[in-house]
Amino acid sequence: MISLRQPQTPLRPAWVEIDLGQLRRNLEIIRTDMPPHVKWCSVVKDQAYGHGAVEIARATTGAGAAYLAVATLDEALELHHAGLQTPILIFGERPQSELEICLAHGFQIFTNDAAAAKNLNSIAVKQGKRARVHIEIDTGMNRYGVRWTKVLPVVEEILQLANLQLAGLMTHFAMSDELDKTFALEQLRRFQEAVQQIRSNTVLLCNSPHAGEPLLHTCNSGGYLDLPQAHFDMVRMGILPLGVYPSQVCRRIPGLQPVMSVKSRLAAIKQIEPGDTVGYGMRYRAESPRTIAVLPLGYGDGFPRVRNTGHVLVNGRRASIIGGNAMDAMMIDVTDIPQARVWDEAVIMGQQSGDEISVHDLAAWGGTVSYDIMTRWSVRLPRVYIEK
Ligand SMILES: *Cc1c(COP(=O)(O)O)cnc(C)c1O
Repeated sequence: MISLRQPQTPLRPAWVEIDLGQLRRNLEIIRTDMPPHVKWCSVVKDQAYGHGAVEIARATTGAGAAYLAVATLDEALELHHAGLQTPILIFGERPQSELEICLAHGFQIFTNDAAAAKNLNSIAVKQGKRARVHIEIDTGMNRYGVRWTKVLPVVEEILQLANLQLAGLMTHFAMSDELDKTFALEQLRRFQEAVQQIRSNTVLLCNSPHAGEPLLHTCNSGGYLDLPQAHFDMVRMGILPLGVYPSQVCRRIPGLQPVMSVKSRLAAIKQIEPGDTVGYGMRYRAESPRTIAVLPLGYGDGFPRVRNTGHVLVNGRRASIIGGNAMDAMMIDVTDIPQARVWDEAVIMGQQSGDEISVHDLAAWGGTVSYDIMTRWSVRLPRVYIEK
């Protein structure tokens, strides 16, 4: 199991800073923004997008998250062993080899066809348990789940199986955070059609008079922000509580700020002459005398592979990245920042003296999306938890 906790060695001069104070402020702001009847599932898969799953889960459950969600069994076990008591939902499909462990730990999983339901029920019988399961209704993402027109037989099967309890019906949007909501609205219509069909063909939406109806949950962060008519009983949010918007065009909530920064120190400073080149592939050639600095992190740490693209902040000023970055190092031009000294702090992602390099900037330089940048910071970058 990968843990982001590091051994007690001196801090490497390149690190990820997680501001738990800002996280708590974000959670408060989101709670105030949320309609009071909507539950919240805190999505902490992939180490809470690199922030540390246990730390983020403690904060979000402390702020009222009713569910935690992850994508792998190992991730669920890490939360379980850390002592988190909140129900844990594992997205996706589980292979046979994981089912017993999932049930034994009370993890909630998806059962998207009748055969899988029968199989899971027999394991639940053996363990003397009642397993809470969710159905993913595929309304057009065409990833996991049962097609929206074919849900009813799966529901009917689950309702007949005494050791299964239908805890949720969900779907996932393919495009909830863009301006064009046409497809999201079509997915919502398909979901409602499926739910309506279930309502009019089953006595109850649940199979226990005590358990209540299954939770309907469809929204990720983009859906939460822009599709209030799709909130239903619960929303599943991963990126937003971390202070990052899923896109540049979705609704803004004043006060939200990123929780994660990436910092480093200048490991070397040197003068180069006109005609000198910098780095692998000689991708930068100096046309005048330059002062350059070396940062001791590179694409091996999760910085996107760039060449002569992007900036870092040094002494509150932007320094250009020059040449192609290497696995463990990248070079910047500090000619216009003469006060820069070896081991001064540089901000790779985050704020310094009022300027900011955002995750969206890095995504643009790397030709990718913010989610990719956030989850890419490797385990060898120590996580430092602060409270500002
Ligand atoms: C990752 C994921 C989410 C959370 O998405 P965000 O955009 O980070 O809020 C929600 N639901 C499912 C099924 C997911 O896979």
